[in-house]
Amino acid sequence: MFSENPIIRRKTKKIYVGDVAVGGDAPITVQSMTNTRTTDVEATVAQIKALENVGADIVRVSVPTIDAAEAFKLIKQQVNVPLVADIHFDYRIALQVAQYGADCLRINPGNIGNETRIQAVVDCAKDNNIPIRIGVNGGSLEKDIMDKYHEPTPEALVESAMRHVDILDKFNFDQFKVSVKASDVFLAVESYRQLSKQIEQPLHLGITEAGGFRAGAVKSAIGLGMLLSEGIGDTLRISLAANPVEEIKVGFDILKSLRIRSRGINFIACPSCSRQEFDVINTVNALEERLEDIITPMDVSIIGCVVNGPGEALVSDLGLTGGNRKSGYYLDGSRQKERIDNDDIVDQLEKKIRAKAAQVQQTIATLKPE
Ligand code: SF4
Repeated sequence: MFSENPIIRRKTKKIYVGDVAVGGDAPITVQSMTNTRTTDVEATVAQIKALENVGADIVRVSVPTIDAAEAFKLIKQQVNVPLVADIHFDYRIALQVAQYGADCLRINPGNIGNETRIQAVVDCAKDNNIPIRIGVNGGSLEKDIMDKYHEPTPEALVESAMRHVDILDKFNFDQFKVSVKASDVFLAVESYRQLSKQIEQPLHLGITEAGGFRAGAVKSAIGLGMLLSEGIGDTLRISLAANPVEEIKVGFDILKSLRIRSRGINFIACPSCSRQEFDVINTVNALEERLEDIITPMDVSIIGCVVNGPGEALVSDLGLTGGNRKSGYYLDGSRQKERIDNDDIVDQLEKKIRAKAAQVQQTIATLKPE
C-alpha cells in the first residue's frame, strides 16, 4: 500500500463531548442526527443504537419543545453514545437538557435573546462541564447580514459565526466548536477555510442539505474531501436525505479514502467485465453486508480476473483473484496454495476475512502501548 499521507492537520483546541474528544490530536469523529420524533422515545433509542452499531461517535437529537426535553432525559438513560441536544431558540430547553445529561448543546447564543439568558446558558454549560456547538447555516443567516451581503457568501457565514463566537468570548467560554454549513460545496469550503484562520476551536464539517443518498454522498465527499485534505475539520456529519445510518457509513468512507481514520474493511473491487470468473458485484455486496460488524481496519481486494487481481492482492491484507472455477487467494500479499471454489465464494471468503480480521486485531492489540 502506498502509505504516504501528506495531510497536516490544523491545530485546534481539544474539547470533550461526553468522553469523546473533538479537536487537538483526537481522531476526527463521525456523527449523525436522529430523524425520529424525539418524543417517540422507543423509536429514537432504536435509531441511536443503530447508529452506535455502525460506529457513530456522537449523535445529535433535536429538542424542539419541553416535551421533547423530557423524552431526551429518558433517551439519554438508554444509550451509550454521547448526545448533542439540538436547540434553536428557547434557552429554557437548553437549561433543561443540560440537567438531563446532554453531552453538548447545539445552540447559537446570538439567537436566544438578552444577556441574562445567554449568561444562564453559559453558566449551565460550565456547571455541567459540557460544550456548545455554534451552527451557522447558509440558509438561515441573520437579516442584517443578508442585507449587507445580499446572498450567502463565505464572508457572510463567517461574520455570522464570529458574532456567536464573540458572545461566548465575552462570557469567557471557550469550550465550543463551530460549523458554517452550506448546501453549495464551494460556499461551504471557502467559509470553513476562512473561519479556520480566525478561531482555534474545533470545526464541525458538513455540506448541509446535500441531497439524496447518491448525490449527497458525492457532494459531501468532494466538499469535505477538499477541507480534510487541507487539514481542516475535527468532526463531521454527512447530511443525507436517507437513513442516518448511511450518513455514518459515508462519513467513515470519506475518512478511509483519505487514510485519516480507518474503521472496518476497505474493499478494493473491480467493476467487473466479461473477463470476470465469478460474480464480482454480488460477491462484494454480500460481503459488505455480512461483514458490517467488523471494525478492524483492513484492506480486502476482490478482483474478477488475473488482469488486476495479483497486483491488488499484493498490497491487501487479503486478496482474491478470479480464476477458472476456483479463484486464487492471497494473505498479506502471498499467494496461498489453497484455491477458493467459485460456487461457494461468499461463504468461504466471509470465514477467511473473519479469521484474518481476528489476527489483525490481535496484532493491533499487541502493538498498543501499555
Ligand atoms: S480485473 Fe478483470 S474482471 Fe475486473 S474489470 Fe479488470 S479485466 Fe474485468
